[in-house]
Amino acid sequence: MRGPRPLTRWLEIAVPAHAEAVEAVSEILTRIGHNGIAVDMPTVGAGGRGAETGDYTVKAYLLADADAFAKVSDARDALGHLQAFGLGPIGELAVRTIDDEDWLAAWKASLAPIRVGAFLVRPTWSDADAAGAIALALDPGMAFGTGLHPTTQQCLEALSTLPVEGLRVLDVGTGSGILAIAAAKRGAREVVAVDVDPLAVAAAAENAERNGTRVAVRQGSAADVAGAFDLVLANLVGPVLLAVASHLRARVAPAGRLVAAGIVRDAEAGVRDAFARVGLRLVEREERDDWVRLVLTA
Ligand code: SAH
Repeated sequence: MRGPRPLTRWLEIAVPAHAEAVEAVSEILTRIGHNGIAVDMPTVGAGGRGAETGDYTVKAYLLADADAFAKVSDARDALGHLQAFGLGPIGELAVRTIDDEDWLAAWKASLAPIRVGAFLVRPTWSDADAAGAIALALDPGMAFGTGLHPTTQQCLEALSTLPVEGLRVLDVGTGSGILAIAAAKRGAREVVAVDVDPLAVAAAAENAERNGTRVAVRQGSAADVAGAFDLVLANLVGPVLLAVASHLRARVAPAGRLVAAGIVRDAEAGVRDAFARVGLRLVEREERDDWVRLVLTA
């Protein structure tokens, strides 16, 4: 007779964080999380937009094994350092134990389908009706690319309104590939996606295929791609945008556009200066929860 299946115990780590701190907190929890992290929006109104109040919650799940205590305490230390740098208010790290089934349920519930602009971002296991939206099927496993992060949402909204059909599109820092896939589904003629992280490259390639889209995914950055594109997407953090500004510029075709996101308000002036210096002109600015998205043209 077989005994009962040993129950896997998981720890759920939850950290409330202000918009400005979400990215840094995500980065820390990604180091200990078993399968990436999830970011819960404060409140998401119908349609994926609307009333967003209070704090985000960044969550990670890890096996409750012998190393768990040390991992959680490392994360707590790292969060303490962030706080000391003044990177937005961060709440207390909360730990709770959950069982296998609960974990799956919690994980799936935190990834409900979300409507953003022209798109419906849903996990692959969801059969949510796209109701006229363009469905993007993406599973969790990364800090970005589930469509829940505000900067990703801002870029999806740009992809909903900017012309994309028939254009050549480059996605720099593709992560899960979400923006590249969205561009392909909006009818881009050709989509190239790059990321410095080999795990992201693998995930993006798999996700593109799963969504039935053609995206050429490569490891690298804006400097490793040749030629010019009608639309360049760069959802990167401020310091990275500064570092790659001239390479991004080189990839934008005459009259082409660059969508730059992931810029916290404090970093905005510096990033805009850097783009102006390389000859990119601002055509649009949008801000949400301290995150700034810019659209520029060459
Ligand atoms: N485009 C996705 C992911 C954004 S997260 C989205 O909008 O949701 C930013 C990604 O940029 C990460 O996957 C990170 O690995 C990658 N990245 C960081 N620095 C980079 C650089 N210099 N060049 C290219 N990719 C970079």
